[in-house]
Order: sequence, then C-alpha cells, then structure tokens
Amino acid sequence: MSTLGAGRRSKCVELTQCPYDHTPITAEACSGGSVVLTCPACEAAWEWHGAWLRRFREPDREKMLAARANGKSTEPAT
Ligand SMILES: [Zn+2]
Repeated sequence: MSTLGAGRRSKCVELTQCPYDHTPITAEACSGGSVVLTCPACEAAWEWHGAWLRRFREPDREKMLAARANGKSTEPAT
C-alpha cells in the first residue's frame, strides 16, 4: 500500500461518480456478487464484478450534456 504515495486513498477502482457528467452514481448489489452502477443523470450503467468493470448501457447523450451543464455552472443561473 505504499506505491501510490499521494496521500490520498485510491479511488480509481471504485466508480463513485459518472465519468461523463460527474454525477454521484448509485450502486445496487446484485446476486452473484456483482454490483450494478447506474448514473441517475445520464442513465449510463456499469456492471462491477470483482476485478472488472464493464459498461453495459451507453449514456443518454442529451441527458449527459444537460447534467454537465447543471453541474458545471459556475455562474448563478437566474
Ligand atoms: Zn452520467
């Protein structure tokens, strides 16, 4: 545990945020030991099973862009 001495906990294995729009991802444990990760914003979904992670649902492009616009708004939306 000393190779990544960045002072941070490694979080690259666990997917906690959508890589497309940075929305916190919801995780659901499924039978068989796999976990289904779903982005509530763009509806992309991943299956996480032990050492591997694979995406099985593409993000909805329009929702993804909308979520990005929401999350990244640096100016106050009036
Ligand atoms: Zn997303």
